[in-house]
Amino acid sequence: MMVEPAKRANEQTINMNKADKKWLTDHFGSQVAFDEPMYRHTTFGIGGPADALITVRTDDQVKDLVNWAQEKGYAYLILGAGSNLLVRDGGIRGIVLNLGNGFKSIDQRSEASPNGSVHVTAGAGVMVQQLARYALDQGLAGLNFALGIPGTVGGALRMNAGARDTCMADTTIAISFLKQNGEVVTLGKEQLCFSYRRFDLEQGSIILRGEFQLKRTDRETLQREAVRMQKKRRSSQPLAFPSAGSTFRNPAGGIYAAELIDRAGLKGLRKGGAEVSTKHANFILNKEHASASDVLVLIEQVRATVFERFEVNLEPEVMIVGRETGSKKSL
Ligand SMILES: Cc1cc2nc3c(=O)[nH]c(=O)nc-3n(C[C@H](O)[C@H](O)[C@H](O)COP(=O)(O)OP(=O)(O)OC[C@H]3O[C@@H](n4cnc5c(N)ncnc54)[C@H](O)[C@@H]3O)c2cc1C
Repeated sequence: MMVEPAKRANEQTINMNKADKKWLTDHFGSQVAFDEPMYRHTTFGIGGPADALITVRTDDQVKDLVNWAQEKGYAYLILGAGSNLLVRDGGIRGIVLNLGNGFKSIDQRSEASPNGSVHVTAGAGVMVQQLARYALDQGLAGLNFALGIPGTVGGALRMNAGARDTCMADTTIAISFLKQNGEVVTLGKEQLCFSYRRFDLEQGSIILRGEFQLKRTDRETLQREAVRMQKKRRSSQPLAFPSAGSTFRNPAGGIYAAELIDRAGLKGLRKGGAEVSTKHANFILNKEHASASDVLVLIEQVRATVFERFEVNLEPEVMIVGRETGSKKSL
């Protein structure tokens, strides 16, 4: 199962002490919240409290916080819009870092080149739908697929988010990161390693902004495509209940996870407040105050049944973070 600790090497089991809380308050003031329930920050509406959730506004603030966390031995997790996260009920011991103002701008870097391409830079905290809407309004092709994806640019790059045959990798030409050693680097397309719903990011690195190459095109045509794609999304996805989108990655070989789950007769399977959607079998919904453990039980049941029926091992696409209730382990 894919579980993403932000900082495996330095598993932290200590509580955050008063002096460290004071340091955070002195440096980040109202940008820090202690014991912050993560259900408020995930589209699933699920998740126990984080020791500290800090919204950072500048590259320097990110750098200072990461340096400090490393010195103190606190694990840290980067939170985008929380639309691909399942936070366990015991919450997150350590720091959750969110990119605020200062990471929310979109800039057009150049006018269209002779071949009609335009470079656009977006902060990692921009909602990817907002970037897609900007491109659409400007008549720039390449991001229409992202119109219905409820994540940030940082999260979408990290997940190489996509729909059908299009994904972030197709238009991304550079990404700037803060590395764990405090260095800010910008890597060009040829140095970026994307694959299906995945981007190989060095452990502990934080995406600060991305640069995209978009193609100037006829706005009306783009608009029609956008309407068609959004209509399709609304008709196929269960959007009336909280979820984290697709629960499992599609296995290799052109099969859809949703199809396997459906054929295994698992639509509507329920545990507590969580349910396998009857509309799109790869979505698990928070129907009624579901806990993370309800969702995890469903995930295991689905995996076991699909394996038993088709000998296919489904891997979660949703990132599972945090600790079980009562556990002393960190992320
Ligand atoms: C209704 C619904 C529909 C969806 N449809 C799609 C779809 O069509 N296609 C698709 O691909 N996904 C889809 N998703 C899933 C989700 O929206 C995407 O994976 C999205 O890209 C996650 O972005 P986020 O900002 O919410 O990331 P989060 O969920 O906050 O984080 C996801 C991961 O990225 C890491 N991360 C976030 N920001 C950064 C950063 N700046 N630097 C480093 N790491 C970072 C986090 O630590 C975590 O590991 C859907 C989700 C929902 C709820």
